[in-house]
Amino acid sequence: MYIITCHATTSFARLRRVNKNMPKEEKSKTVYWLENKLYLNITNQCSNCCFFCLKRYKRGVAGFNLKLSKEPSIAQITAELDAVLNMRSWVEVVFCGFGEPTERLDVLLDVAKWIRQHYGRPLKIRVNTNGHGYLLNPGRDLAAELKAAGIDKVSVSLNAGDKETYSEICKPTFEGGYEAVLDFVQKAKSILQVEVTAVRMPEVDISKAQAAAEELGVKFRVREYIPCFY
Ligand code: SF4
Repeated sequence: MYIITCHATTSFARLRRVNKNMPKEEKSKTVYWLENKLYLNITNQCSNCCFFCLKRYKRGVAGFNLKLSKEPSIAQITAELDAVLNMRSWVEVVFCGFGEPTERLDVLLDVAKWIRQHYGRPLKIRVNTNGHGYLLNPGRDLAAELKAAGIDKVSVSLNAGDKETYSEICKPTFEGGYEAVLDFVQKAKSILQVEVTAVRMPEVDISKAQAAAEELGVKFRVREYIPCFY
């Protein structure tokens, strides 16, 4: 079974295993981990207000408090990273927390570059995004900048096969949210590895979301949903 953690999902059983071994962390964190993957919670801002978003119901995941008391500086994030980068052999770093990483594009880029400079072993860097990055950062060459900073892959939350469903589920804070996601995928797919995801829930027509991904010519992944009230 899986649980929604903002744009991502993670195994419920895995969370329980991690929780068992980890004391409850009260201080808010920008860096957290699940097994051999590091996650970066660089912002709590988001241009969506998805009804399933875990931050509406929980303080964090796996004993880590992801409710930031203030938006962290690059120095704070890299200091937290520095403390754990060599703790184990990480296979992937994922920008994924209680917010949309491209809300703080320059922080995202600088932290990715810092990781590439300070971690010698092969390591994938992924951004889990709502796909609004071009709208949030007008005039920027987003996909190319992500690639240049060392990011390999983006996982894009689509969650719908049409604009109306997207608006109901993800509640974007501006007009054109659905089109912005499609535009992001179109622009990014020739530069980065791109996958499109959708959460399995009654409101989502998975086959329509999958058809949208196929039309875009990118991989599609379904994320199983369980309510947070377990
Ligand atoms: S897009 Fe924003 S509101 Fe939706 S799940 Fe991700 S962080 Fe939460």
